[in-house]
Amino acid sequence: MKKIPVTIPYFTEDEENAVKKVLQSGWVAQGPVVAEFEDAIANYEGVKYGVATTSCTTSLHLAMVTSGIERGMDVFAPAFTFVATVNTIVESGATPVLIDVSQNTYNIDTNKIIEKIRSNYKEKQGKLINKETGNVLWGIVPVHQFGLCCDILEINHIAKEYDLKIIEDAACALGARIGKVHEGGFGNTSCISFHPRKSITTGEGGMVLTNDESLAKKMRELRSHGSSVSADARHAGKGFLLPEFNDAGYNYRMTDIQAAVGLAQIKKLDYILEAKRKRSKLYDSLIKENLPELITPYVPENYYHTYQSYVCMLDYKVLGLNSVDEGGEYRNILLSELEDIGIATRQGTHAVHTLGYYKNRFGYKPDELPNAYACDRLSITLPLYVQMTDEDQEYVVKMIRNIIDKMRQGSIYGDNCK
Ligand SMILES: *Cc1c(COP(=O)(O)O)cnc(C)c1O
Repeated sequence: MKKIPVTIPYFTEDEENAVKKVLQSGWVAQGPVVAEFEDAIANYEGVKYGVATTSCTTSLHLAMVTSGIERGMDVFAPAFTFVATVNTIVESGATPVLIDVSQNTYNIDTNKIIEKIRSNYKEKQGKLINKETGNVLWGIVPVHQFGLCCDILEINHIAKEYDLKIIEDAACALGARIGKVHEGGFGNTSCISFHPRKSITTGEGGMVLTNDESLAKKMRELRSHGSSVSADARHAGKGFLLPEFNDAGYNYRMTDIQAAVGLAQIKKLDYILEAKRKRSKLYDSLIKENLPELITPYVPENYYHTYQSYVCMLDYKVLGLNSVDEGGEYRNILLSELEDIGIATRQGTHAVHTLGYYKNRFGYKPDELPNAYACDRLSITLPLYVQMTDEDQEYVVKMIRNIIDKMRQGSIYGDNCK
């Protein structure tokens, strides 16, 4: 059986050689190679400072706790995103407030941000206060979902108007642009992931990007147990004195082994992004020709999509189904059939308000955030990676066509789905 994974990283012997060099050096924890990797990523994104960590999740947490997010605060986040975006807000002690997304771009809907502010907050001494809970609105954690920038220019505008802060979850968006401006260049702190599902990988890993020198310094201390070099040690210029600890920090350090892989990977980044974009265009045209049941990813003019994932939506109306829920059932059977013949797919990501913790703690109902719910039920991530061939992609589309045709004939789904 032909096996097509949903994605695989693109490695050559460069990564192996880079790791070997670090192992031979005898220094494997955070050291000079991490520093070099931070510079390389910051440089690529046009930002002054990169602070590497163990994952994008720990990057987000570090960025949040150093940006003043704490108990008694509300933080807006999109309702359709990987749960880590929202978990880290909880971990910082604040209260996440989920905002619906657009079904076109899968990104946070800026109109919904304004609606929420107007209906749920009142202004008091220059701050927005939650009318129900008394929480102060800190700001917004927008996501550049699947490698497509959200409308960050409009979000910046809203933030300025209401004096809100922003941390961008750019986990999927290394290299994404609006016009010539890279993801990191919109004036906010942003966080990137190097998980194997993303464009380049270090196994696990993440990085905070910022232009704020004192924020970068604070994050470097906190990621390393809260340690700072003491004045005495600085004067002595020697290493025998332990550092000072003025904060209770974490161990969020990336290793030099991981950073060596990252340095080999970033040299391939432009090649990887272009290859995935080319493959995405091929999916676009194959789907337009053969699969009216799927809606291809929408890219606004002037946006450079990096296609961390190629995510389309099942058009349940074209299938003659009556609701998102019926469409969702159909989608799950389709993806299950694909898995049975060796083609791995996934739902795009999840509607956070439907997940146990958030549903139970905040009492969200599925239809409260209808677009996120629809994306959760109807989205489909197709396999996409550099090593894929045109034939692989044609095979994926052909197999989807076959399964839908069989379902229509009733041999899979039963006859309630003509
Ligand atoms: C992958 C992802 C994360 C988490 O990244 P890790 O490096 O795995 O911690 C966070 N947010 C979004 C939107 C993601 O896609």
